[in-house]
Parts: sequence; C-alpha cells; structure tokens
Amino acid sequence: MDRIFTLASRANGATSSAYVAAQVAAHDHEQSCGDCGKPGPSVLMDDGWQGTVQNCPESDRLRRIQRAQYDSDHNGAPRVRTVSLTPDDQALLAAEVYDWLNARPGMHDQSTWVGPISADGIRLPAGKEPPAGITLCIAGAVCHLAGYDLHTEPVPAAVGPYRMTAPIPRTAARLLDLTEEQAQALFFTPSPLAMARLAELAHRP
Ligand SMILES: [Zn+2]
Repeated sequence: MDRIFTLASRANGATSSAYVAAQVAAHDHEQSCGDCGKPGPSVLMDDGWQGTVQNCPESDRLRRIQRAQYDSDHNGAPRVRTVSLTPDDQALLAAEVYDWLNARPGMHDQSTWVGPISADGIRLPAGKEPPAGITLCIAGAVCHLAGYDLHTEPVPAAVGPYRMTAPIPRTAARLLDLTEEQAQALFFTPSPLAMARLAELAHRP
C-alpha cells in the first residue's frame, strides 16, 4: 500500500500526496524517536483538561515542513483541522474501504477492531500492508487507510499525528462522517450484514 493521497487521508485533513508524504515523515520520526512523545503539560480544552505530548526539535522541523506544504496547497488560506466529506466523497471513501477489504479475503473480521484476538500487542503501522494473519474490522480498515497506526495495547486505538490516540470506532465514524446510529449499524454488526451496509454507503448494488 502506497503512502499516497486517498479519500480517507483527505477526510483526515490531508490536501495532497506531498502533504501526506510530509505528514508520514513527521509521524514516522515521532514513532521511532526516543525524545518524542513524552507527557507535556495539560491544556484546558472545550471538553476539559487534555494531556499533551512533547516532541523534539527534529519533529518540530518536520511538522513545519508539513504546515508549509498545507499552506502551499491552499495558497495560504486559513488551515482547518478536518474537512467534512460531501455525500459523493463519503460514498467514494466507503467504496475505497469496501474494495480494499474485498481484495483481501480472510482479513475482514468484525469480531475485533484489529486481530486476531489471540495475538498480543499488535501494532499495524500506517501505510504498511497488513501482514498475513492480521484481521481488521471495517472501522479498523477506515482508520488504517486514513493513515493511522493501529495498536491493540494498552487498548485498541488509532494513533495519529503527535501520537494523539483515539478509539478506533470514534475515529472511523468521524472520517466517514457517520451519525452515531450509522456507526452502530456499520461497526457493531457481523460481517455479511456490515459489508452489505458498507456497500449501501458506497452506492454499490
Ligand atoms: Zn524526535
């Protein structure tokens, strides 16, 4: 799987292949650097105090390159964190996930976000083709295609920029722009029915 500009990465705020490449470079550095990801001071956000992480000067440099790419893609227009998908793009993203899972028989398993459930400490890096034996549910596949690392320990989570982590279903619901009911119907459903609903979202017969 190439680290290219996909609809899923666009739903996550990416703007071009060059932007995705800059984001991946910074993300890869922060994942492997011993000085990045240390707990920083908490900040007061709308939903209460939130922890932050501190990163090293090299991370700052790579994130500056990423921001410069964004500004260049947008001619300096104000930055937005995420872009809501149009209904057409939502259908295309659902189709992207549908085709990706269908092309990988045996990988789709709705019983766990990232599996197999018997394995300890799975870590699926963003942009890497999942190794044989790894399973993903629809929500896990959406997050993976959008450029998130997926971890199963300490809890199953999607890990994005600056090592910010969020539950896989919440992240996938945001990316796909689903209502809570739609997310329940898609993510907490056994395989054949879940894939049928994904096909519906993708406007596939
Ligand atoms: Zn670092």
